[in-house]
Amino acid sequence: MQIAHKIELKANNTQMTYFKKACGVARFAWNWGLAEWDQQFKSGQKPSGMALKKQFNAIKESEFPWTYEVTKYASQQPFLDLQDAWKRLFKKLGGKPRFKKKGKSHDSFYVGGDQIKLDESKRRIKIPNLGWVKLRESLRFEGKINSVVISRTADRWFASIQVEASNSFPRHENQVSVGVDLGVLQLATLSDGVVFQSPRPLQKLLRRLRRVSRQLSKKIKGSQQSKKAASNLARLHMRIANIRRDTLHKITTAIASNSSEIGIEDLHVKGMVRNPKLARAISDVGLGEFRRQLNYKAEWRGAKVVIHSRFFPSSKKCSSCGKVKEALSLSERTYKCECGLTIDRDLNAAMNLNPVPKALREITPAEMTALRRSVHPVFVTSIVETGSQHQLLCG
Ligand SMILES: [Zn+2]
Repeated sequence: MQIAHKIELKANNTQMTYFKKACGVARFAWNWGLAEWDQQFKSGQKPSGMALKKQFNAIKESEFPWTYEVTKYASQQPFLDLQDAWKRLFKKLGGKPRFKKKGKSHDSFYVGGDQIKLDESKRRIKIPNLGWVKLRESLRFEGKINSVVISRTADRWFASIQVEASNSFPRHENQVSVGVDLGVLQLATLSDGVVFQSPRPLQKLLRRLRRVSRQLSKKIKGSQQSKKAASNLARLHMRIANIRRDTLHKITTAIASNSSEIGIEDLHVKGMVRNPKLARAISDVGLGEFRRQLNYKAEWRGAKVVIHSRFFPSSKKCSSCGKVKEALSLSERTYKCECGLTIDRDLNAAMNLNPVPKALREITPAEMTALRRSVHPVFVTSIVETGSQHQLLCG
């Protein structure tokens, strides 16, 4: 299984200069290859990434000697990427590859695993022609390193390390099922009563985001002040994205590690249909990302994710007697049923989403109260910005 772990680098000035240079070499090779490709294609030839790479390498030493100042991969990988881009175009999976502009497009370069080393603490990475660069956190996965992509977001540098990981997660022994209700005020409510709140630092940053964007709109375009405000804004966006991703990782890891069967609803679609305002807020907290993470983490651990249809009345149904209400407004935070059940709306929905609902009916009202007491804002103080993410690429 291939996993990528993206970690922020603590690069000094010399290292940043190298990164910029390597990105420049990668951009140059891409643009050179693309121009050649276009020309050969127009003259009726059949260009290929491999052939163009050979052509480039034949003149590299005499015409582009500066490409030797950085890892050879910086000027080699773009040809393989071009090949992929054209393949995708022919399969109608992507658009025509475009020329890369300095500073405009996403700056990055690739290094093959054979040229990469990590030190024992896994807190430093060795880049060819450069030496050791510090990582903000250690690599989370064991296994052979296949490749690293160094990239820039705003003024920060990241290494996305591709690891050939062995599947070493413990399988679930106990059969524990859980229902998860996804929301906006409370990111996730679990049928066992645990609630994951939106982290407070995030709420603060979102308020700041509104202020900074307002400031930017008042500055004169192209001015020094406007550039500064724009870079502020980009940094803020990145911090917010990092906290969101980090929160989602914590929640999905907690859920996937504790349960063997997880029920969620197809809320993304449902939300869109029902309420555009709510849908906006939902996409803001990244619930599509939530599902993606939950799916692969569950798969790693041999757990099952059950996605209920968007027509499943998770909110309107009584989790105790099963009766379905005809209407339930969004402002009704407490669910009250004729059978005597009075319960938090989200908790009721989570209980309905539990794939093994039989056990739910056996919960007494007293236990229900105890469940409500165990509700706590898990992440209010524990969120740290790590600038990290991991994702499953294939397998
Ligand atoms: Zn009822």
